[in-house]
Amino acid sequence: MHGFTDETRALGEEILRYAAERLALDPVPLDGTRTVAELDAVAGGAITAQGKGGQDALKLFEDHLALACLSTDHPRYLSFIPCAPTREAAMFDLVVGASSIYAGSWLEGAGAVYAENQALRWIADLVGLPEAAGGSFVQGGTIGNLSSLVTARATARERATGGARPYRIAATVGSHSSIATACRVMDAEQVPVPMNDRMQMTGDNLRKVLEDNGPETFFAVVATAGSTNFGVIDDLDSIADVCEEYGIWFHVDGAYGGAGLAAPSVRDKYAGVERCDSFIVDPHKWLFAPFDCCALLYREPALARVAHTQHASYLDVLTDTPDWNPTDYSVGLTRRARGLPFWFSLVANGTDAYTAAIERTLEVTRFAQAEIERRDHVEVVREADLSVLVFRRLGWEAKDYHAWSDGILAREEGFVVPTSHLGETLARFAIVNPRTTEDDITALLDSMA
Ligand SMILES: *Cc1c(COP(=O)(O)O)cnc(C)c1O
Repeated sequence: MHGFTDETRALGEEILRYAAERLALDPVPLDGTRTVAELDAVAGGAITAQGKGGQDALKLFEDHLALACLSTDHPRYLSFIPCAPTREAAMFDLVVGASSIYAGSWLEGAGAVYAENQALRWIADLVGLPEAAGGSFVQGGTIGNLSSLVTARATARERATGGARPYRIAATVGSHSSIATACRVMDAEQVPVPMNDRMQMTGDNLRKVLEDNGPETFFAVVATAGSTNFGVIDDLDSIADVCEEYGIWFHVDGAYGGAGLAAPSVRDKYAGVERCDSFIVDPHKWLFAPFDCCALLYREPALARVAHTQHASYLDVLTDTPDWNPTDYSVGLTRRARGLPFWFSLVANGTDAYTAAIERTLEVTRFAQAEIERRDHVEVVREADLSVLVFRRLGWEAKDYHAWSDGILAREEGFVVPTSHLGETLARFAIVNPRTTEDDITALLDSMA
């Protein structure tokens, strides 16, 4: 099975055909979920001692398993945060898979690491980070946040005087669930910062929390640049002032919203982001890369290298050099060159195309907001800062939202799960797919009438 025969070539052609046809679909089918019993009936016992052959295995995927997976790039998949890769990024993922590249070290993956660093530099420039900034691409925002916070704590403990061991982070309740997860993993404590009437963290509220709890007990402040539920950007500049005043690490979680930095129409909302110590954005969300891809950046990467480098005798050849080894900047060791599909698409399409695509999703979001305001049966809960919009269907209870959501999914018309806020069930659109149109929005709102 490591040889390349005529049969292998035929299978390769079939796989490329399948991939090309999938990428050409417009619109893609939404598909639907299935039960274990349903999948058992069609795909149970697929792994056998003799093997079924590649053609049959592909057929099993194509005819049964693929249909049991929702297409996150369907234009009416507006739940969670969708993933709508560019054709170039999706195609290049195949190349990365075929190339057997180890991208954890410069020695082994110099070409890939060089390219990934170019893509990271584009993001660092959008943020406004200095030339020395750097980091790596990790699996997702969860690992990006965890890696940043591990670095923040190691740095704070290194700098603390008198044996102090800061163990707290400050963040709002609007921060992502991965912050609470990071705290559990790290045995740290998350202290909630109250939000203002725009659901933002502000420097004043932060200062009060630090003073009430003892600023020396905190090792990081996590601000969100585009909260997942509402797309809220915290008041980054005033938060940066307070972090600077107390000498506390300033982490900005832009996993979803960081992409808006490339959109002139919303760029001013991020004022102060350039003052962060660490920053993340998931290109698999609003920067059109395939799963799974998070860009993690540090103002001073050397601090992360101290916190994360794994030492072992068999690794000395890698760690005892000044080379840029991506694996030294995050939790984890082995890594796929997961930034390469994103890099390839940036090179192929140019950054103006990214700006245009992000602006297009913002335009459709503004259309959705105006359309909701115009209709009697729905109302906006909070004006959208970015491309997430939460709204209320007047007269509906939780069960009505769920019945509507289940209905459109069963009919393969859309995937829009309800969210909740302050105990109330609500509807939510997350629009990061440039192929989502005004007509998609109108059709979904009509279906709630
Ligand atoms: C999605 C998200 C995360 C987590 O990212 P994953 O890639 O799902 O691990 C963290 N923070 C914010 C604000 C997010 O939207």
